[in-house]
Amino acid sequence: MGTPLDSREEQAAEVVDRLHEEYPDSTISLTYGDRLELLVAVVLSAQCTDERVNEVTADLFETYQSAADYAAASEEQLAEDIYGITFHNNKGGYLKGIGEILVEEHDGEVPDTMSELTDLPGVGRKTANVVLQHGHDIVEGIVVDTHVQRLSRRLGLTEEERPEAIEDDLLDVVPEDEWQQFTHLLIDHGRAICGARSADCGACVLADICPSEQGDGAVDLASGEAW
Ligand code: SF4
Repeated sequence: MGTPLDSREEQAAEVVDRLHEEYPDSTISLTYGDRLELLVAVVLSAQCTDERVNEVTADLFETYQSAADYAAASEEQLAEDIYGITFHNNKGGYLKGIGEILVEEHDGEVPDTMSELTDLPGVGRKTANVVLQHGHDIVEGIVVDTHVQRLSRRLGLTEEERPEAIEDDLLDVVPEDEWQQFTHLLIDHGRAICGARSADCGACVLADICPSEQGDGAVDLASGEAW
């Protein structure tokens, strides 16, 4: 078990510094060319891998190039065109609904406020934060996906369990100019070293400051149980 720094602010800053060293090119791994494609890709990525989303959207974005294209398609056609994506039937409906609202209420454009984005079907705060950050350069929150959720708890940055509550804690301790990169750094570290089922603490640059580091009787603070 490592020893975290004295305050959560110091712990967060140290985690960010070290992970920047480890993952200097850390960024979003979805492929998109404009805001609409970004929005669609992020909606499709819920409970699905970014790799799979990128495979499917390579063809999808050839066929659907505007909000009106999604609005005009049937849910069934959209579901077929995103086959291979988790929950493709539901997400086909989301894409049609998003296309309709964008056409009817936003002149076919992707809005730039949290409330307008979260009014779209299939768009929660996490998705909206990604679209605001990467589509509009507006950083007003921290994207908390499953990696950020798990690693923030393991590293002692929060004891909360729900993503919204975790985000509130993180906003208090992560330096504001790192809110966007924090997510990508933790995702990269989660994928490379600190996985949901296995954490390679022996190869981890955070081991000495991580309260979940595996050792005698150590507890995985993400689950609250012994490793
Ligand atoms: S790999 Fe181990 S030491 Fe590193 S962050 Fe995860 S639990 Fe902590």
